[in-house]
Amino acid sequence: MALPPRTEADLRRELTGLVVESLAVRQDLSHRSVRCAVCAAAGDPADRTVGDEVCVALREYEGFTWEIQDLYCPDHGVDRVADAVGVEADDQAVVSALLEAAGYHSPDGQYHPEALTLGAVEVVDYSPAAEGYRAPDE
Ligand SMILES: [Zn+2]
Repeated sequence: MALPPRTEADLRRELTGLVVESLAVRQDLSHRSVRCAVCAAAGDPADRTVGDEVCVALREYEGFTWEIQDLYCPDHGVDRVADAVGVEADDQAVVSALLEAAGYHSPDGQYHPEALTLGAVEVVDYSPAAEGYRAPDE
């Protein structure tokens, strides 16, 4: 019943256009910007905006929806899923992407035409769900 692992092409297709909005990461819709988690924790107000490169850690919940777990600037990017959020029994990925403003229909019915989305997605690391079942507890 387990789905076959995704290819990089699958991931690029699924993640391109994904809006930068999740339980963990929120963009500032009025300023069309989002903040690197490490910079924000350090009190650095440097925002990432359209055209900026970001590193994004994602996890697919229930084989249904990709959820952004963390977003970093290139200085604080991670190379491996294990370094980002830890390997679990879900499909997980770390990608680099450029921020675009392709717009977003939020669940409350509003349309945000300049909401940030992911473009030029390149897969940095991918951990299929099966890996989480046999991963050591790191
Ligand atoms: Zn940063």
